[in-house]
Amino acid sequence: MIDKEDLSFDQTHIWHPYTSLTKPLPTYPISSAKGVRLIMDDGRELIDGMSSWWTAIHGYNVPELNEAANHQLSQMSHVMFGGITHKPAIELCKKLLAITPNNLEKVFLADSGSVSVEVAMKMAIQYQHAKGSANRRKFKTIRNGYHGDTTGAMSVCDPEGGMHHLFSDFVPKHIFLDQPRKRFDEYYDEKEFRELAQFFRLNADKCAAFILEPIVQGAGGMWFYSPDYLKKIKELCEQHDLLLIADEIATGFGRTGKMFACEHANISPDILCVGKALTGGYMTLAATLTTEHVADTICRGEAGVFMHGPTFMGNPLACAIANRSLELLTSSQWEDKIKTIERQLKREILPIANSLNVKDTRVLGAIGVVEMKENVDVPKAQKFFVENGVWIRPFRNLIYIMPPYIIAEEELRKLTHAISAYVQSS
Ligand SMILES: *Cc1c(COP(=O)(O)O)cnc(C)c1O
Repeated sequence: MIDKEDLSFDQTHIWHPYTSLTKPLPTYPISSAKGVRLIMDDGRELIDGMSSWWTAIHGYNVPELNEAANHQLSQMSHVMFGGITHKPAIELCKKLLAITPNNLEKVFLADSGSVSVEVAMKMAIQYQHAKGSANRRKFKTIRNGYHGDTTGAMSVCDPEGGMHHLFSDFVPKHIFLDQPRKRFDEYYDEKEFRELAQFFRLNADKCAAFILEPIVQGAGGMWFYSPDYLKKIKELCEQHDLLLIADEIATGFGRTGKMFACEHANISPDILCVGKALTGGYMTLAATLTTEHVADTICRGEAGVFMHGPTFMGNPLACAIANRSLELLTSSQWEDKIKTIERQLKREILPIANSLNVKDTRVLGAIGVVEMKENVDVPKAQKFFVENGVWIRPFRNLIYIMPPYIIAEEELRKLTHAISAYVQSS
């Protein structure tokens, strides 16, 4: 049990994500989790609307994943990947190649989403260098993006959301394009793309790659944009010799209704980052996939090798759990499940837009978003949600949910009703 003294230690000494240690926000003690429920120290149960930030797609305490973890622990938890290989990593890379776009053939196992983005950016730089275009060192991207918190990843996050001015001279400056304005179900005509084409021509010869989150911009604003836009970006990248890096760390593994969000636009990136749901929320693990052409070019370059190799690369325990999680996913009726969740979210989330304090509501796959006109009072909202038996953590002016895929109709209704009740009470 966490007692008062523990909580006060936590508030005084432990940083939580994006928080202050002088004005700490309240934290809620959780002692276990099972299915779609988080169980608090005092025994209260909360229905989880967040999947622990996109990860716990099968829910918590999953017997199959526990079994995979226990089995792998009895073999080995970790061995170095330099000069050594093992079945869990080989199996995982085979599985990833089988479900990602066909042109992707080479896998780099990274230890977190941010690291997989660093790896992707370094791949692009090494690729251009090897091609004799060492001056191509900048990246193009769209505003309101989020790619992680390490320095390279941060440099391509939204400049305001990422407070780039605070880190100027430390974080490299890249080239930003306005975020796509058209919604997921809207279309572009060629005229509207003129500006985009112009943006691409500008400084194209200084750029290594274009990086974006396909279809769903996550932590930068929970925005869903038109597949037309993604198709056009792919086309322009080819025209101007930029690699396309798709950051599917949040969108991967079914969340948007397709296994990968790129499929909505029928495009294949040159480099793909996956993470978050890869181990079903059990452990940190990510991967960066690329094409034979990019890998070969890198390996023919000056370095002769790809210059990255983390200590916990290919961690067998994480790989073994990821393997079982992917088996669970691909052997389930996940497409039907996501469709069912999407239909219910559309019925129950979209009408919340009628409230005067709501700016917009939107749903895609198993993601539901209520965008308020004003910023949400997060501690107040969280308290309200916990009192109503649900776990939902808003940010800025966004109240959103992306529940585990195993959620039942009644449980999901409890989440959407809590959001609706909060919006009406605030
Ligand atoms: C969460 C996220 C990351 C960073 O992943 P970490 O595992 O937190 O380092 C990168 N890109 C996107 C799109 C994300 O959602």
